[in-house]
Amino acid sequence: MKDQSPSVLDPAALVAAFPKVRTIALITDSNVDRLYGDVTVRRLEQTGLRVERIVFPAGERSKTLDTYVELVRGLAALGMTRTDLVVALGGGVVGDLAGFAAATYMRGIACVQVPTTLLAMVDSSIGGKTGVDIPEGKNLVGAFHLPRQIIRDVGYLATLPEREMKNGLAEMIKTAVLFDAAMFAELRALAARTPDERLAALAPLVERCAQWKERIVEEDFKEGGRRKLLNLGHTFGHAIEKVSGFAIPHGEAVAMGMRLVGNDVPEIDEILDAYGFGHYDVSVRAEVLSAVTNDKKRSGDSITLIIPRKIGDCELVETPMSEVGRWLPEDASGL
Ligand code: ADP
Ligand code: ZN
Repeated sequence: MKDQSPSVLDPAALVAAFPKVRTIALITDSNVDRLYGDVTVRRLEQTGLRVERIVFPAGERSKTLDTYVELVRGLAALGMTRTDLVVALGGGVVGDLAGFAAATYMRGIACVQVPTTLLAMVDSSIGGKTGVDIPEGKNLVGAFHLPRQIIRDVGYLATLPEREMKNGLAEMIKTAVLFDAAMFAELRALAARTPDERLAALAPLVERCAQWKERIVEEDFKEGGRRKLLNLGHTFGHAIEKVSGFAIPHGEAVAMGMRLVGNDVPEIDEILDAYGFGHYDVSVRAEVLSAVTNDKKRSGDSITLIIPRKIGDCELVETPMSEVGRWLPEDASGL
C-alpha cells in the first residue's frame, strides 16, 4: 500500500507515515550527494531518528550487481531491520539500485523515493520496477517493489543539466500524446519559453504526468494490457539507443522513436522540433531493424507497436516482424 505523498521531504510527515522506523538509510550517488546530501541528512535528522548515508559513484556504470552487493551489505552493517526505511535520493540509477536493495534486503523493507531528475519524477520512480544491469543486458536482474511514498520536489531540477531535462521532457511529451491533449498544448507552449520560465511552470505538469503513469500502473501492475501503451516510441527508441552504444540518451532516442510511429499526427514532429529533438540516422537503418527484430524474437513473430491516431489517442497495433521495416524510412526524405 502506498501512503499519501507530500511534495517535499517533510520530517514530521515521515515519522507519522512510518512510526516503527528507527534508522533511515539515505542512498544516493556522488553527484546528488555533493548537491543535496548534507541538507537532506539534516532534514531527515529532524525526525529524531538515526540517519545514515550510503553513497556510490554517479553514473549508469554503477548500476551493477557489485554496487547492489555494496548497498545490501551496507544496510546489514548498519543493523537495519525489517521495519527500517530506505530513502532513495537521485535519478533513475539511484532509484533502481536503492529500490532493488530495499526490495531484497530481509525480503523487502520500505522505500521512499525522492527523485531528483525529471525523468525519474515522471517515469522511473513510478511503478515499482527496480534492478540492475548485467553484462548480458540492461535491467536483467530486478524485482517489483512499490515505493511507499514518492516525493516529487521540482526544486531539485534547478541544478539538473539541460540534457537531462530533455530526457524527462521526452517522456512527458509521450504521456501527453498518449492520454492528454490539454497537457500536450501546455507543453507545446512551454517550448518557446526560457529554461528558467519552463522550470517555474513545470510543477503541475510533472504532477499530472506522474498521475497518468500511476493510474496506468495501478490498472495493470504486471505488464501487458494498458501498460504497454507506455512503450510509445520505445520499441524503436530502445533499438536506436542500443545501436548508438548508448551515446544517444534515452529521451532523445524515445523522441526519435515517436517520430517514426507518429506519421499520422504532424503535431508530434512539431513539438519535438520545438524542443530541439533530433531524427534517427537513416544510415543505421539496418542495425536498428535487426535490433528490434532480434530483441523481440523470443516473444514470437510479431510485436505490438503503439501508433498515435491523434493527440491523446494511440492504438496498440500487432505488427508481423516482416512488416516492422515499413516504419523505418530508408532515406532522410521519408523522415
Ligand atoms: P535518470 O536515469 O533519471 O536520467 P541518472 O540517475 O542516470 O538519472 O542521473 C543522471 C545524472 O544526473 C547523474 O549523473 C546524476 O548524478 C545527476 N543528477 C541527478 N539529479 C540531479 C540534480 N537534481 N541536479 C544535478 N544533477 C543531478
Ligand atoms: Zn522511457
